[in-house]
Amino acid sequence: MAWRSSGATNRELIENLSRNNLIKSPAVKEAFLKVDRAHYAPRSPYQDTPQSIGHRATISAPHMHAAAAEKLLPFATPSPARPAPRVLDVGSGSGYLTHVLAELGAATVVGLEHIRELRDLGEANMQRSEEGQGLLDSGRVRFVVGDGRKGWDDGEGEGWDAIHVGAAAREVHGELLGQLRAPGRMFIPVEEEGGMVGSMFGVWIRMGRGG
Ligand code: SAH
Repeated sequence: MAWRSSGATNRELIENLSRNNLIKSPAVKEAFLKVDRAHYAPRSPYQDTPQSIGHRATISAPHMHAAAAEKLLPFATPSPARPAPRVLDVGSGSGYLTHVLAELGAATVVGLEHIRELRDLGEANMQRSEEGQGLLDSGRVRFVVGDGRKGWDDGEGEGWDAIHVGAAAREVHGELLGQLRAPGRMFIPVEEEGGMVGSMFGVWIRMGRGG
């Protein structure tokens, strides 16, 4: 399934993800079209496969990023109920999804990495496009170093409307979950018994008034 969506150009990759119904919402498609994956994946950027980015980390496959963006869209895009969405991307790695989440219209997106070199890589990759540089300059996107299990307090707001976890987790850490607003949504890959990460993921939803 993964290979079916590969393309020769960024547009072709996104069109194929859309044709294969992995990208469903026009807003998600538009956001992906704004970000050139070649700025984030060192090799074969338009293949629907993960790629190594060093430090034993990978940029996830485009269909995984598509699933995450689709699930987080309602909580990452401005709406009357949520005019300035705050998004936390735990294990930001290449910075690709951090950038895509910002293109969904979130007011604040923080990419959180526990490896400083990868925090720097995400930021450097984003600086490769004018749009990415603009998002960094405006402060809408920031990359920080920290342990994702503890979440992140940027001192600017209470918690997060949407949390994406790019790192494999054996459990949903209470401290991180505690920072999810109600209503809010967390997208997190689930580690299967035996330690291998499949393309499984879980979605945590916090209900609240109006949620
Ligand atoms: N979402 C990124 C990277 C996925 S790989 C992308 O697609 O490019 C998972 C990332 O999570 C790695 O970069 C790894 O360094 C980071 N990571 C793992 N455990 C972490 C933790 N406890 N806190 C923060 N980041 C972590």
